[in-house]
Amino acid sequence: MNAAAALIQPQVPEQVLTALQGVVDPEIPVLTIEDLGILRDVRMAGDEVVVTITPTYVGCPAMVEIRENIEKALGEAGVEAFRVETSLSPAWTTDWMSEAGRRKLLEYGIAPPSPRSVACPQCGSEDTRLISEFGSTACKSLHQCNACLEPFDHFKCH
Ligand SMILES: [Zn+2]
Repeated sequence: MNAAAALIQPQVPEQVLTALQGVVDPEIPVLTIEDLGILRDVRMAGDEVVVTITPTYVGCPAMVEIRENIEKALGEAGVEAFRVETSLSPAWTTDWMSEAGRRKLLEYGIAPPSPRSVACPQCGSEDTRLISEFGSTACKSLHQCNACLEPFDHFKCH
């Protein structure tokens, strides 16, 4: 178990976990909230399921949609009593993104967060340059590869 993994109480019913594992990021639909490390904690408070999420950054517009998607998924799974809580501390870091998440991001054509050089998701070259701090969304920056000339998004470090 690594620091990125969500804390899931063993009493949490299987259908709840299955429902949560189906919730994806509205901006990057190949990534689940578990892959991203947004899902922090799932526990029971009596008969109520309590889901804790941490936004990738404060004010991330996708979080409203993610919360709605969690509520919808749990509702569809027949879970009647639940609440979704947001935890801002400790703050989310890109370290919480799972290995599976990083791989999926790369396959999707977005460079995973890297504190060092940003490698091109197309050809793997590390000879890349930053074009804009803001890519298709505020969570991403736009880069271009000097080797294959492909522009690509990079999931930013926080
Ligand atoms: Zn390239």
